[in-house]
Amino acid sequence: MARRRKSSHTWVYVIWGLNGFAILSLLAFSAFYKTSLRASAADENISTPRPRETRRIPPTSYFLSTLTPNPLYTPPVFETPTPFELPTGLHPSIIGFSLAGRPIEAYTFGAGEKEYLIVAGIHGGYEGNTIALTNELITYINENSEALPTDVTLYIIRNMNPDGEARDNGVDGRVNNNGVDLNRNFPSDNWTADWDRDGCWIYRPTTGGAYAGSEPETRSVMSFIGSHKIKAMISYHSAGLGVFPGGVPWEEPSKRLAKALSKATGYPYPPLDTGCVYTGTLADWAVENGVGASVDMELSDHKNTDFVQNLKALKVLLNFQP
Ligand SMILES: [Zn+2]
Repeated sequence: MARRRKSSHTWVYVIWGLNGFAILSLLAFSAFYKTSLRASAADENISTPRPRETRRIPPTSYFLSTLTPNPLYTPPVFETPTPFELPTGLHPSIIGFSLAGRPIEAYTFGAGEKEYLIVAGIHGGYEGNTIALTNELITYINENSEALPTDVTLYIIRNMNPDGEARDNGVDGRVNNNGVDLNRNFPSDNWTADWDRDGCWIYRPTTGGAYAGSEPETRSVMSFIGSHKIKAMISYHSAGLGVFPGGVPWEEPSKRLAKALSKATGYPYPPLDTGCVYTGTLADWAVENGVGASVDMELSDHKNTDFVQNLKALKVLLNFQP
């Protein structure tokens, strides 16, 4: 009996002992945890850098605005991949932004009632010489205002696919940041997301877009053309196939423009037929939507700007009556 009582006392001591140890451990742990929280909070205070102001504003940089005013906000800065600036300070208007937020610029020359349009760089860096050509034309017209008839306004969209140009100067620079061929994204009557690749460009995968006019670059040019009354336009490409009139089938005024441009430049008309069927092109959409005449015109290679030939082409364009 006495033995049993003694042994039950021992168990009580053991259990109370364990309890005490557990309580002490919990207290110690919580004290340690609080201290370490305070320490890491202090670390944060020390290491958080103060937001820096963006001070450098070169002429070809653009800020994207924010809708939520925030004193700590530093706006992202995007620069045109080929910074281009006229010494006289004539600035382009920005008609829209690419997927990556790069500006799409339009230069305006003259103030006459007859409006003409030149678009370059729709195939980005892959056809980067078209952008180089428009840079030369812009510089030339800016210095030689007599190149422009007095009753004419000329718009030059110097680079319609700035993301493609920024990405690569070869085959990887052709599409926009969604992998879309912008010259197949216009909502012309024959737009398709996919097409038979026989005779067509096949060096990288590409599509006509999730739907017609799905890309911001396409919509920028659509809304620009929609807000003007363009008599005639050239969309520049490279290389070598010649001058393609707009329209399905080719429309008469566009065929006349293509013939006249071919005569002035030596680029082939009719264009070389590789068997490729072109869908959703800017030139087709343009004539279906009020532009008097339009062509896709290819420079002779992927390198040269053919400046002398295209100065003659400019004269043909600016005197063309659809
Ligand atoms: Zn092209």
